[in-house]
Amino acid sequence: MSEPAVVRIAPSPTGDPHVGTAYIALFDFAMARTTGGRFILRIEDTDRTRYDAKSEAQITESLHWLGIQYDEGPDVGGPNGPYRQSERTEIYREHVDKLLDGGTAYRCFCTAERLAEMRHAQRARKAPPGYDGLCRGLLPEEIEAKLAEGIQYVVRLKVPKDRPVSFHDELRGKVEIEGKQIDDQVLLKSDGFPTYHLANVVDDHLMEVNDVIRAEEWITSTPKHVLLYEAFGWTPPRFRHMPLLRNKDKSKISKRKNPTSLIWYKENGYLPEAMVNFLALMGYSSPDGEEMFSLEQMLKDFDPKRISTSGPVFDLEKLQWLNGEYIRALPENELATRLLAHWTYRRGRSIEADPETDGPLHAWIDANGGLESDAVRAFVLATIPLVQTRIKTLEEYAPLTRCFFRDDVSGYEQAELIPKKKDIEGVRDLLTTAHADLEGLTDWTHEPIEGALRGLAEKIEWKPREIFQPMRVAVTGSKISPPLFESMELIGKTACLARIEGAIRR
Ligand code: GLU
Repeated sequence: MSEPAVVRIAPSPTGDPHVGTAYIALFDFAMARTTGGRFILRIEDTDRTRYDAKSEAQITESLHWLGIQYDEGPDVGGPNGPYRQSERTEIYREHVDKLLDGGTAYRCFCTAERLAEMRHAQRARKAPPGYDGLCRGLLPEEIEAKLAEGIQYVVRLKVPKDRPVSFHDELRGKVEIEGKQIDDQVLLKSDGFPTYHLANVVDDHLMEVNDVIRAEEWITSTPKHVLLYEAFGWTPPRFRHMPLLRNKDKSKISKRKNPTSLIWYKENGYLPEAMVNFLALMGYSSPDGEEMFSLEQMLKDFDPKRISTSGPVFDLEKLQWLNGEYIRALPENELATRLLAHWTYRRGRSIEADPETDGPLHAWIDANGGLESDAVRAFVLATIPLVQTRIKTLEEYAPLTRCFFRDDVSGYEQAELIPKKKDIEGVRDLLTTAHADLEGLTDWTHEPIEGALRGLAEKIEWKPREIFQPMRVAVTGSKISPPLFESMELIGKTACLARIEGAIRR
């Protein structure tokens, strides 16, 4: 067995929790669990301009929702805290002093205006961007004088420009870049906050992280990190840069083309196990080629050497399909539980019911004792066999089942009642006869209802589907509904007869 991996996910709380965070976290989790290691959540909140106060809570909520458990983190504690970088600024300043003393970093007093001019001139010359090194060679007395004057400064990494910097990526092999192509990166900003590079390296070292798994987009930062490890005299961790998630057109995953917020998926009725399975497929494949597998199954034969680096496509349709498969596979009781929990969650987040889609359901729930009531649960459970194979997300339940939850279904067009090659009189006669036949039924269950309607079709010499369409529209208010006879059974005799009368009047 390999050495226990100490891994971390280090999201910046700058907005909605991103699917990419869960994707990397899942592979972190698998690494930690399969090697007997540890998994840390660290909040990289040093960029105060982009900080979003809600974001951290949403990150932890999302990871808990998905069942991607970390062993240490801001909300669970642990021996390596604090786990928010904004609470560790003292540590970074001490470390910067070590670099300044050792001559591997330097103070830069350049003003914002000078840097802007420099960049402008570089662009004009078509020269690569980067600090021109003006303050690299300041003499100690010059530095003293500027400090005495109280001039603001940043601390920069003194990148050796005369040699290449290289590291080994566990998934990609050797990566090498010439020192002269690496910018003298700012490590400590003038507000006293560290940049990502400094804080990330210091924390990875102090938290004993030995396996860094992160998205491919950070690969250009890694040479800077390698130089920092050198400057501190520390052993660098192993690096694994995971392929970026992509939109279907192969561009980097973006909000414009896919929802990227984990909360969006939770609110919209995706099951956590489907989400985890889908994200796992972005880098892992099961030995038997099976696409549907649980996290436990993945952990059984996870091998980091087999992580695929070909650009994984975040295909929402595929996720919907997979989610539908997971919904189908749930025991009926469990699906009812998930639906009720989902609605409770949406209400907790004050997501208002849409009068067109889930409004009738929610009004009905309130009229029948609320989400906790046994009657509500029992009825929802009774609807499950009618919908389980027809919904791909929990959110699709309400629009599909509207006919069960409102009395007035008459919002349809008259034309919808009339099948091809039939006319309005014919349909009126049909509905009138159907009403009479159904009224005579003593056993209001789907089999006798079906028998009555098929018998009627024979009697008047219509094709069965020619009578099912007007019946369906009359009773459910739509040409699309759960299975007709079962729906009629659930809606009940009195309501069905009243709806047919309504259709006759139309
Ligand atoms: N804070 C970085 C992010 O937002 C961390 C990248 C890394 O894992 O090093 O993804």
